[in-house]
Amino acid sequence: MKKTISVNIKNLNYYFGNKTLQSQVLCDINLKIRSEEIIVLTGPSGSGKTTLLTLIGGLRSVQTGTLNVLGKELYGASDDKLVQVRRHIGYIFQAHNLLEFLTARQNVQMSLELHKQISAREARHRAESMLEAVKLGNRINYYPSELSGGQKQRVAIARALVSRPKLVLADEPTASLDSKTGRDVVKLMQQLAKEQGCSVLMVTHDNRILDIADRIIHMEDGKLLNTDFSQKYYS
Ligand code: ADP
Ligand code: MG
Repeated sequence: MKKTISVNIKNLNYYFGNKTLQSQVLCDINLKIRSEEIIVLTGPSGSGKTTLLTLIGGLRSVQTGTLNVLGKELYGASDDKLVQVRRHIGYIFQAHNLLEFLTARQNVQMSLELHKQISAREARHRAESMLEAVKLGNRINYYPSELSGGQKQRVAIARALVSRPKLVLADEPTASLDSKTGRDVVKLMQQLAKEQGCSVLMVTHDNRILDIADRIIHMEDGKLLNTDFSQKYYS
């Protein structure tokens, strides 16, 4: 498969607050992510990691700078365009956000409902195979309340990957898990991402999983450090 750039960020700034009480949260971010690349983003709490992920994910509007995600420019993008881009992104957050009144299969299948070309039968089949891939084949019809923390997080991963997204954004996906379960879950994410050829941008504080990264970048006070390597790499 041809290696392409899935995310290209240039001179991105972001501010919270209004004109009189404005605080800059992201300062001149420049970053390129190749397809199939797994990038780990570290940095102290409050440094702007989640804000960056939500911008890349098309969940908030770009204020200044350019942000190209999967070939689409998000600066000034219409809501329609944002929805289109979001369809190709898998999100995994710290809190799994599963719907309690749906089974594991229904939670996973739900993320295929945006994809009109996939029949209900096919969606069901895909949801079940993805749950098998995350080793939950024996929990398909369980409700979240009947699953452990690690199992719920694996359902969330299955839900994020079932639509075969080109980009996965994971914000502290192992925060609520013990270290062994956390590592298992991330290894699984890595394996599935490589199989499906998607890029992963993952925020984590967990030193035990840094080795799965192709590249580690660090954020402090809204600035990205350690990007020299990548810039050289791409030039
Ligand atoms: P991280 O994920 O690295 O902990 P965040 O991106 O969540 O950091 O937050 C970066 C900074 O932006 C923090 O100082 C935080 O207080 C501020 N911030 C986050 N969300 C909002 C918001 N909705 N309104 C105002 N300030 C915010
Ligand atoms: Mg955060």
